[in-house]
This record gives sequence, structure tokens and C-alpha cells, in this order.
Amino acid sequence: MSDEQDPIEEAIAGMMAGAPEGLVPAPTPRPEPVRGGTQADIRARFLAMREGEVDRRAGLDYTHRRTALRRLSAAIRRYEPQIIAALAADLGKPEAEVRLTEILPVQAEISHTLKYLKRWMRPRRATSTLLTFGTRAKIVSEPKGTVLIIAPWNYPFGLLMGPLSSALAAGNAAILKPSELAPATSALVAKIITETFAPDFVWVAEGAVDVAQALLDLPFDHLFFTGSPEVGRKVMAQAARHLTPVTLELGGKSPVIIGPGADLKAAAQAVAWGKFSNAGQTCIAPDHIYVASAQMEAFLTHLKTAIRKMYGRSPEAQASGRDYARIVSERHFRRLDAMISAAEAGGATVVEGGARDAATRFIAPTVLTGVRRDAALMREEIFGPVLPVLPFEDAGAVIAAINTGPKPLALYIFEKDKGFIEEITRKTSSGAVGVNVTLAHYMHLNLPFGGIGNSGMGAAHGEWGFRAFSHEKPVLRNSFAPLSGFMPPYRGMKRRRIRLMARLLGR
Ligand code: NAD
Repeated sequence: MSDEQDPIEEAIAGMMAGAPEGLVPAPTPRPEPVRGGTQADIRARFLAMREGEVDRRAGLDYTHRRTALRRLSAAIRRYEPQIIAALAADLGKPEAEVRLTEILPVQAEISHTLKYLKRWMRPRRATSTLLTFGTRAKIVSEPKGTVLIIAPWNYPFGLLMGPLSSALAAGNAAILKPSELAPATSALVAKIITETFAPDFVWVAEGAVDVAQALLDLPFDHLFFTGSPEVGRKVMAQAARHLTPVTLELGGKSPVIIGPGADLKAAAQAVAWGKFSNAGQTCIAPDHIYVASAQMEAFLTHLKTAIRKMYGRSPEAQASGRDYARIVSERHFRRLDAMISAAEAGGATVVEGGARDAATRFIAPTVLTGVRRDAALMREEIFGPVLPVLPFEDAGAVIAAINTGPKPLALYIFEKDKGFIEEITRKTSSGAVGVNVTLAHYMHLNLPFGGIGNSGMGAAHGEWGFRAFSHEKPVLRNSFAPLSGFMPPYRGMKRRRIRLMARLLGR
């Protein structure tokens, strides 16, 4: 069927041309529920969701949203063994890591949301101002409508289900687009969602860039994208065609600064865990480290000890152990392999690790010194278990180096001296700052999680997630506002009154 003849296409075209929002004529015949990702399927599903919007707005009260969240939580609990197996297949993720970094954050997000949802949903009163004397106002959080969530491959379960829980809490219908690079998790998510929700409420569009493109052709009410800054730019440009608002959870090079007064053993442990969890394929993983020169040797010794204690004493032990993940694909393996080789060719020294095996996509936790500033390792987000460590003499030089690059998603400082911590925090800009800790701010649900500039826009988690998927709608009610006293014709008393008001308020 050509595009012109397709009733679904026609309905969507009408919607885009400014047809009344939400109430677009039903396509006939109504398509059957589908699972998959052809363009027609995607459009049909989107349209079915949009059709249900008015009913959803009226019906998705607190009880319904709570039920949806509970169902999601129960389904995740039921499927735990399969989730663990899928992530082992896609990324060789250790079971404990799956529980800690994929399942637990989502369940914590859902239970936090269930605890506070009623409060978040409550309309907030807005006190009237002098100009609006005689009115009563409130701010109502309404669902944005039908939203799209696009996820990356590195935490392919948690980064779909976490945002979904926020979208459901806010009363939306959602289409999820998992990453094609984590196919086992993608298929499992589709199965869980199909069993848990009606397809015109939550639906999964599995597939690669072509599916993402077909989705981005549609006028969603919100786009929640997690992925690379490079793709983030493209999806934002596409969303702009429909003025679809976006939350962009992106990446970047998150630096660590280890000050002259740091507890080096604790810093080495936090860095080894933050960097080598999921084999370095974490958006907020330490990307590279600046260490006060006087501490360089001692820190490297602690770092080696921490790595060996956590992941094994040798590459063989690390490869055969159960606590260390693999690189997601052959392409990603080759990229990291080439980056290490290029850095070595440029004069860098591998001081720990360096072993790699293409067949199993294993790269040992690797630490390098002497990496040149113009090496790929210092220009691109590393996103793998490779850690350049650079010495510094004074904090000013580190601040300058950080400020010459794009704003990072996270910045970590290890130090006891408050002045040092304050100086770095105030003179740099990043999505978040962790002091004497790595990764943990992701788990703190009373903190917004998001980037700034190149590392993203908007925020997720807890109440910020709820707000990302809600429209804060002011509802103003006139009780006895003397508005007619300010309406034309503007003569005599009215002009004087307006002038007086302007003078009163203009100070
Ligand atoms: P990616 O940007 O390549 O892909 C993300 C998603 O976008 C995938 O579902 C993919 O299919 C889709 N996609 C790819 N090209 C597209 C295009 N041209 N148009 C539309 N959609 C497209 O990212 P990735 O490689 O999966 O993930 C790694 C990146 O994600 C890193 O930069 C990392 O820092 C970032 N990340 C950020 C967070 C965060 O919360 N801020 C979390 C995890 C990962």
C-alpha cells in the first residue's frame, strides 16, 4: 500500500497539519495489536494511543497510576531470572551487577514513586499577586500524553523501565524503543510489556535506527532519550519538527580529581568500582583521572590493589571470574583496542591490565599513564575499561583543562580539604558532583539526575522524572477580580488607574 492510500498515514498527516489534538478520526479498519517494528505498525500503535488520550486524561487518576506501577514492579520481580539471563547474554553482566544496577534502581524508583505520587499529583495552590487580586489559582500536573522513550545498550533494562515508571506515574501512554545492541534484553522487555500492559497503553517497538527514525516521524508529546551526545543532537533536531519537548540523558568525559589531601585507598576503591563496573560502559563512569603529582605513585599502587581485589589477580582470573562484564559488540571492542594501541604508540604506558581477547570481547581493567592530550582516549568518551591517569601540580590547571572541554555528566572529587572541594565545585560545571564517592548520586532519588550542555538537558529520577513527563498547567479562576476596570476604552479613571498600578509595581 502506498503512503497516500493508507488511512493511518492520512490520519497522522491530518494530526501534523494541526488537526484537533488527541481526537483524530479513528482509522478504519482498526489495526490489530502488533508486536514488531514496521513503519505501519508503529504508526498504527501511535494512533491507537493518541485515540485513547482523552479517556486516559479523565481516567488515569491516582489509583490507576498506582495500579500500573505495581503491575510493572510485580512483572519485574516475576521475570528476575530471565532479566539476569538476558543481560548475561547481551553484556556478560554478572548477576549481582544486574541486581544492583539494573533491577534495584528501577524497583527503588517505583517504590519511591508509590510513596510520594499522591503528593506530587496534588494540585498546588498559587497565591494571587496584586495584579491578579480577586482570583484563585492552582497548578495542576497533567500527563503530557503519548511519550517516546529511547534507550541505549549499556543498561538496556533499567534505562527503559526507570523512565517508563516516571511516564506511568505522570499518567502517560508510552512507546519504548530498546537498543538493538542488547537484543536479548530488547526481546525480554517486549515480552514483559506485552504481558503487563494493553498495547494501546504501553508498547515496545523493537529495532535499530530505522525504527527509531519511524518513531521520530511521529508527533509525540515528549521524547525521553538516553544515549550519546552525537545521536542526541540528531533526535533533538527531529523532535523539533513537531516541537516535541525532549529530555536528553547523554554522556561525555566525566573526570576524577584526586587532591593532595585525598584518602588514596578509599579513592582507589571508589574509582575501581565506578570505572570497571559493567566494564566501564557506564555513562557516569570515571573517564580519566587527575592526581596530585605527589600522590601519583601511591595512588597507582592502591588502584592496582583495588582492581585485583575486586576483579581478580590476573587477566585469566578476571576473564574466568563472575564479577566482570564484557564489551557489548565486536565493533566496540575494536574501537577500544585501537584506542589503547594508539595511546601506546603515542608514548603511553600500560601500568595495569592491557590484556584483551577479541573472541570473547574481554578487555582487562586497564590503567595507562603518559597519555597525550591529543590521543583519542583524551578526546572521545572512552566508555570502556580503560583509564588514563594524569598528574597535576595545581588545581587551577585541572579546572582550566575541564573547562576547555564540553560539560561532563559527572565530576568526582576525592579530597578532605573543604576549600579544595569548594573551589573545584564552584569553578566547573557538570551534570552532578560526587565527593569521595563515584556513581552513588544515580541512586539518590531525592536528587535530579541529568546533564548540562553536551551531557544532556532535563532531569530524571523521583519527582524530577514525574515532572519531565507532566505538563504543569495553571488553572486560574476568577472570583471577584475587578477586571472590567482595566478594559478599553482607556480613558479618564481607567488610564489613571493603570498608570497608578504601573507606578506602584514599577519599583
Ligand atoms: P546511541 O546514541 O548510539 O544509541 C541510543 C539509542 O538511540 C539506541 O536505541 C539506538 O538505536 C538509537 N539511535 C541510534 N542512532 C540513531 C539515530 N540516528 N536516530 C535515532 N535513534 C538512533 O548510544 P549507545 O551507544 O546505545 O549508548 C552509549 C551512550 O549513551 C554513551 O554516550 C553514554 O554516556 C550514554 N548514556 C547516557 C546515560 C545517561 O543517563 N545520561 C545512560 C547510559 C548511557
